[in-house]
Amino acid sequence: MRKKLVVGNWKMNGSRAQNEGLLSGLLEEDVGGRIDVAVCPPFPYLEQVGRALAGARISLGAQNVSAFDAGAYTGEVSPSMLADLGCDWVIVGHSERRSLFGETDEVVAAKLRAALAAGLKPILCVGETLAQRECGEAEVVVGAQVASVVEALGVAAAAELVVAYEPVWAIGTGRVASPDQAQAMHRFIRGRLEAAGVAAAGVRILYGGSVSAESAPTLFAQPDIDGGLVGGASLVAAAFSEICRAAALVAA
Ligand code: PEP
Repeated sequence: MRKKLVVGNWKMNGSRAQNEGLLSGLLEEDVGGRIDVAVCPPFPYLEQVGRALAGARISLGAQNVSAFDAGAYTGEVSPSMLADLGCDWVIVGHSERRSLFGETDEVVAAKLRAALAAGLKPILCVGETLAQRECGEAEVVVGAQVASVVEALGVAAAAELVVAYEPVWAIGTGRVASPDQAQAMHRFIRGRLEAAGVAAAGVRILYGGSVSAESAPTLFAQPDIDGGLVGGASLVAAAFSEICRAAALVAA
């Protein structure tokens, strides 16, 4: 049985004062427990958020990581630094990193390898654009993203990943994939992992893309949807807590 996981991706949002307000709302709601919950603030706030979460049932993650561990890589943040700051999780290969910052499948694989070596739990993001879906290429694109990681890391390391299916057309658009569309792609991803020899039954596959308190219950009730990667709604304590409760209800 895979434990449900809900991860908040704060993206490049927040300030120390705003984070305090958001965190006190989340801590009041006490959302963790039956499910795993994590939040991923921007790098400069990891220490502040980690301190606030001490003893709480919400863990800490980062939104990106360097593939290098130390040295002359100006502006980069290494996996061991994230571990040192108390991160358990790191998002790798988010579509914004791929499209805006040129991250290729090779870079994504190198970051995953480095993160695993530092003891972090990476969340690999995959997903197709609207044009790719409309051309009937969604499975080809997502299948290739998954295959390139399995090939680069090997099956044992790939089984350690969490995968987040995030259709690019659903991220930040308010246009959420239907439960059937999402379930079909999650089943496809699990099938691809299985076919490659990965112990896929234990791999958590999250859905991401405009998840809200309204859409979460039906999405999370799908057999291959093991939780969510939540952007916009994770910045509002009440909405994020409601999404976590939806996951906990399915897990009950
Ligand atoms: C994301 O950034 O990973 C995401 C899913 O964003 P949103 O929930 O805002 O679509």
